[in-house]
Amino acid sequence: MSNVHYLDEVSMKRLLLTGGLVCLAAISLLAQGAPASAPKSIGSFDLNAIDKSIDPCTDFYQFACGSWIKNNPIPPDQSSWGRFNELHERNQYLLRGILDKQSANDPGRSPVNQKIGDYYAACMDETTIESKGLAPIKPYMESIDSLKSNADLPPVLATLHKGGVNAFFGFGAEPDFKNSKYDIATADQGGLSLPDRDYYFKDDAKSVDLRQKLVQHIAKTFELYGETPAKAAADAKTVMKIETDLAQGSLNRTDQRDPEKIYHKMSVAELRKITPSFQWNQYFTAIQPPAFDSLNLAVPDFAKSMDKILAANDLDSVKTYLRWQTLRSATPALPKVFQDEDFEFYGRTLRGAKELRPRWKRCVQYTDNDLGEALGQTYVAEYFPPEAKARTLQMVHQLEAALKQDISELSWMSPETKKQALDKLSRIDNKIGYPDKWRDYSSLNIVRGDALGNSIRANEFEFNRQLKKIGQPHDRQEWGMSPPTVNAYYNPLENNINFPAGILQPPFYDQKIDDAVNFGAIGMVIGHELTHGFDDEGSQFDADGNLQNWWTKQDKEQFDKLEDCFVKEYDSFVVVDDVHIKGKLTLGENTADNGGIRIAHMALLDVLGNLPQKPIEGYTPEQRFYIGYAQVWCMNETPQQARLQALSDEHSDNKYRVNGVVSNVPEFAKAFGCKADAAMIRKPACRVW
Ligand SMILES: [Zn+2]
Repeated sequence: MSNVHYLDEVSMKRLLLTGGLVCLAAISLLAQGAPASAPKSIGSFDLNAIDKSIDPCTDFYQFACGSWIKNNPIPPDQSSWGRFNELHERNQYLLRGILDKQSANDPGRSPVNQKIGDYYAACMDETTIESKGLAPIKPYMESIDSLKSNADLPPVLATLHKGGVNAFFGFGAEPDFKNSKYDIATADQGGLSLPDRDYYFKDDAKSVDLRQKLVQHIAKTFELYGETPAKAAADAKTVMKIETDLAQGSLNRTDQRDPEKIYHKMSVAELRKITPSFQWNQYFTAIQPPAFDSLNLAVPDFAKSMDKILAANDLDSVKTYLRWQTLRSATPALPKVFQDEDFEFYGRTLRGAKELRPRWKRCVQYTDNDLGEALGQTYVAEYFPPEAKARTLQMVHQLEAALKQDISELSWMSPETKKQALDKLSRIDNKIGYPDKWRDYSSLNIVRGDALGNSIRANEFEFNRQLKKIGQPHDRQEWGMSPPTVNAYYNPLENNINFPAGILQPPFYDQKIDDAVNFGAIGMVIGHELTHGFDDEGSQFDADGNLQNWWTKQDKEQFDKLEDCFVKEYDSFVVVDDVHIKGKLTLGENTADNGGIRIAHMALLDVLGNLPQKPIEGYTPEQRFYIGYAQVWCMNETPQQARLQALSDEHSDNKYRVNGVVSNVPEFAKAFGCKADAAMIRKPACRVW
């Protein structure tokens, strides 16, 4: 959901942009001989990454990362390569080790290990996948073919949704924005094949070309499905027409960040009035949710667009669209030719990758997506010692103390609002490493030799698990990321920060390194997540996680003015060609980066105290703090990836996650002795927290 913040754009989230079960790449022949042993642990402060020929006051990112950038080209199966990827890749190898062992079909395996082992084995069994061909999706296609009128659509769509097909809309449960102690039913926009609604309407040459290539990709996929080239080409145009009509009423990613724009609680009767052409009763009969009489129709305009499509009564077009979304979702478990074709568009064209990711990497990823808390149990037992959890929690408390001091000393905020802000801060819950209670997968049947069946059953399991939440007290102990994930998030509806075990390792956190580096890396990440509670979105939710104003009018106006400085700053950064960062889309993340570095620095000073500080490896503790920070973001990316991120991701390009931040921080300029007219000193500096 759009209301959860992710620190990083590199790992899962980017894969999920393609929706449903679809992933980027297919089998790589080159990678068949990939080593099974994990790459070595990654260093957290890397002298060899630094480019000493660059003045840190001129371009700090290039100074801290220049040599790393030169020496770490993008591997052919990736579209970007940075420190996050290095750690993600290492975790993938560790998970592969677990899965190789558990897929050996040992009768003595625990029930949890049977599931992850057999899921992975089925996914890796390409011989069976090839021999089954299209048979696994036949029942879905037959039910689509059997549609006689739009009135038959709801039960068919229900079956597709349960199996993970991203057609038309999404249905599930989420906390009620205005009473977040309880979950309510929610229907959200969905059903698009491009990363954002604006992709359907932009008329620059690159956007027009991308849409043409999508149409070609859809046509080729239909041909692989068995259609004649002429019919496939016509069908692809039909799909594009329906998706464009759906996009018409959809919100773009910037608008989706505004909670008021995605919260429209209404009765089921009102829902029916907005979408008279869709028989919700039949849909509910098919999915069998608990009884409810109101829900959040997140984007009413989207529902109206969908209704218009159904009211036109062009059943053949709707069927064609459903076939496409089904093929797209099932791709990971279809024969290789489908995955090659999927890679050509989503991997090569959209992201600029040169090569398909090897099968094992994709199967590790799918296992983590579908059985994350089963795979995570073994991962945590083997690779996340209790000391790491205790030390991280200690740092979180140090960062919270710094943010408390920061808020207390703000000159622009009135005592009245400060009291509310401090109350909210004191009630942020800290979740570290992994859930206290693991998800129970016992009712999910995982079978060797049935890759698509496993995937469908895992989707049904998750769909039903979500449905059961409707009307129930919201469970804040649940996690939105699996333990091996290299990422972190703040959830405004729960007012908590979440740090999966996967990120609590070098280069983010290193037990063996000095405090300065750890505070610059994981300390800043913790500060970043805490600050999300107080960014343009998080600040609209109160300490209980409810969408409720706690600001005086004057303070809110002041806040908006200070935020506007960030919007203008980041709007000015050019990422590739003429593509600028979107200041509004990235505002929450930029606020969190800028606030995070300040409070991490304050916390470090508290820890260092008045002790004399000797340089290590030629750098003072404060210099090591900023270099440690910058080096977490060292990255290479394809121009396609840079463009995609700028257009559709809430996170700024890594270069500006460093330079855009340090140039606002006087303590940075002091640490490196920058002259007043240095490029890394912004005038006037932007600051909120
Ligand atoms: Zn973030």
